[in-house]
Amino acid sequence: MEDGGRKQGAMSPCAACKLLRRRCAQDCVFAPYFPANEPQKFASVHKVFGASNVNKMLQELPEHQRSDAVSSMVYEANARVRDPVYGCVGAISSLQQQVDVLQTQLALAQAEVVHMKMHQATTSSDQQQPPLPVASNSSSENLSPSSSRLISSQSKSLFDMDMGESLWSC
Ligand SMILES: [Zn+2]
Repeated sequence: MEDGGRKQGAMSPCAACKLLRRRCAQDCVFAPYFPANEPQKFASVHKVFGASNVNKMLQELPEHQRSDAVSSMVYEANARVRDPVYGCVGAISSLQQQVDVLQTQLALAQAEVVHMKMHQATTSSDQQQPPLPVASNSSSENLSPSSSRLISSQSKSLFDMDMGESLWSC
């Protein structure tokens, strides 16, 4: 007379059926993806999407895609529980902002490399020039170290500013 007449091991219900307090049928759509030892997975999915919606979504998918669908639903649901306002969109947009900042930094660094190469080219061509009279030679000696110092201090402050703030504020 007992419904659980079939002797199937412990017959422990999956996490979904346990939470919904229903009998876990042999063909339970949740059972493969919500094992009893991970109750939190179904709890958050149920909270955000609702058990019957999850059931419907899984039924509409071919079986080989259900596991991925469950993974993404669990991810989305957990993000929504953590961040009730933005959910996983919050994570996506914060990563997008990081990409934008890093692309800007990359562009600046590439511009800096071009700038330094040009500077190197002009200073090396200066050195190749024939020796100048003593008076102007001493003035060019005075000029070149200070100008290179200026450029290196500029590039240093640029990286300190951009990298320091953006990296640590994220
Ligand atoms: Zn079940």
